[in-house]
Amino acid sequence: MTVAKSNSPLRILLLGGTTEATALAERLSRMGSIKAVLSLAGRTAQPAESPLTTRVGGFGGVEGLSAYLQQEAVNLVIDATHPFAARISTNAIAASQASGVPLLAIERPPWTRVADDDWIEHDSIEAAVSALPEEPQDIFSGLGRQAIDALCRAPQHRYLIRVVDPLECPAALAHAEIIASRGPFCTGDDARLFADYNIRHVLSKNAGGSAAYSKIEAARQLGITVHMIRRPALPARTTVATANEALAWIDKHHRSRSDLGV
Ligand code: NAP
Repeated sequence: MTVAKSNSPLRILLLGGTTEATALAERLSRMGSIKAVLSLAGRTAQPAESPLTTRVGGFGGVEGLSAYLQQEAVNLVIDATHPFAARISTNAIAASQASGVPLLAIERPPWTRVADDDWIEHDSIEAAVSALPEEPQDIFSGLGRQAIDALCRAPQHRYLIRVVDPLECPAALAHAEIIASRGPFCTGDDARLFADYNIRHVLSKNAGGSAAYSKIEAARQLGITVHMIRRPALPARTTVATANEALAWIDKHHRSRSDLGV
């Protein structure tokens, strides 16, 4: 897609941390009529390289983000954060409303149960951990590092915990093993891993997308129960499912500015 030309560059704040953000950053970087900045929370030690100017770290809540939008004369905000990054997404909606800067979110469709899936759905990580059997089990956690505290509530289990960056396992989890590995993962590898560790339960966020779906397919193949965490609820916002659709939305805004001679 070619984005319409206007007199002044369209200034975009892209809230990132996902594959969709990486894809959109790549496309935006090649458009001379757009000046986009990628924003990352700074959670991973070595984020994927981006061709866009990148800022790292929180803005300081809704007020800080609103101030940033004004100071940087941002025209559009694209929220391409993870579906479970509810705080930044809620802040972005509020800051967009407060400062009158249009916002679009890229929201991957959630995974849905198919034949042979053995899923138990939960509203929170804590609820999923509470629902695990009392007797010690072999459990794979794909919930990320921020969920490790919740696992400490059921320390009797043998956990295999997959995270992006290496970390020390908390002393409370005497039978846990950490694997540091960055996706995308593949179903064959995950099935072998689950078989090797005799995994009987998989803990997963309903992230959607393909990069982390292999654990769900592997669990289906091996008849393993998946404890699927439902997505957090967010205030109403305009959404699309892909980076391509986001480009079309950006183009529409760019054209309307061109028509106004901005
Ligand atoms: P969160 O709970 O929604 O956000 C916590 C705080 O981190 C926000 O209030 C904001 O600080 C800051 N923040 C988050 N994303 C930011 C961004 N893109 N740019 C600047 N500041 C940001 O988010 P989270 O769940 O910790 O996720 C952090 C990042 O990791 C997100 O960018 C997300 O896309 C990515 N990620 C998250 C998950 C997940 O499962 N949660 C998985 C994969 C990737 P201030 O209030 O100070 O602005």
